[in-house]
Amino acid sequence: AEIPTAAISRLVTYLRILEHLELQDVSRTSSNDLADRAGVSAFQVRKDLAYFGRFGTRGMGYTVPILKRELVRVLGLNRSWNVVIVGMGRLGQAIANYPGASDYQFQYVGLFDVSPGVVGQQVRGLTVGHMNDLTDFTRTHAVDMGFLAVPPERAQDAAQALVDAGVKGILNFAPTVIQPRTTERPGLQDLSDEWRGVIVENVDFLAGMKRLAFYILNPHLKDAPAP
Ligand code: NAD
Repeated sequence: AEIPTAAISRLVTYLRILEHLELQDVSRTSSNDLADRAGVSAFQVRKDLAYFGRFGTRGMGYTVPILKRELVRVLGLNRSWNVVIVGMGRLGQAIANYPGASDYQFQYVGLFDVSPGVVGQQVRGLTVGHMNDLTDFTRTHAVDMGFLAVPPERAQDAAQALVDAGVKGILNFAPTVIQPRTTERPGLQDLSDEWRGVIVENVDFLAGMKRLAFYILNPHLKDAPAP
């Protein structure tokens, strides 16, 4: 069965709330409490969690460390994830230097660019490599994810380079839609073989600005918050 994308977004929110509760030494919570903190209904919380199992006791709620551990497991955060960043301009540098990724076992193992001014630079103990060396790199290093921080007009080609190098997950920061097919065969509507099983997630801050503008002008059109 498929699980709504929004449910997975909410699991990430519940996990953040559980991390916060644990820091406050709160040992028990309930679907009502989680719902309040996440800005959704208790029914929604129970439904989201029920996709993955039964984590609480009826009438007793949840044990914070246990539910947290289970969400960590469900989300796959109990293993390590090796990440490369493609595009080491302003955003790529900022991401590489932001310590949040290491809360869980995400680690930057490679940084890539094409600009002679950037290739060879040291960032957080890594030397920025050239994109031409990406495939060689992935032959010798396990790479699970690629973060795309290149200009939008370069994003499709850079995504293709990641996929050709065998990377199965792309976090795309460029404000553009990545097409799951090669540019050499632009007419092809089907997934190219190498794109099969590739997951693309988009982080589009310009899109967020536009949604915000719309909802500030039309607050009555906003449905329940979807954290
Ligand atoms: P930037 O121009 O500072 O950096 C882009 C980098 O990508 C450059 O170093 C360039 O040499 C490199 N590059 C170009 N083509 C490449 C390729 N084929 N392979 C590898 N590297 C390549 O741009 P930026 O401000 O860091 O923005 C990067 C992307 O992130 C853009 O798509 C932008 O719209 C988006 N974005 C930026 C911000 C921000 O605050 N800077 C915020 C949200 C989104």
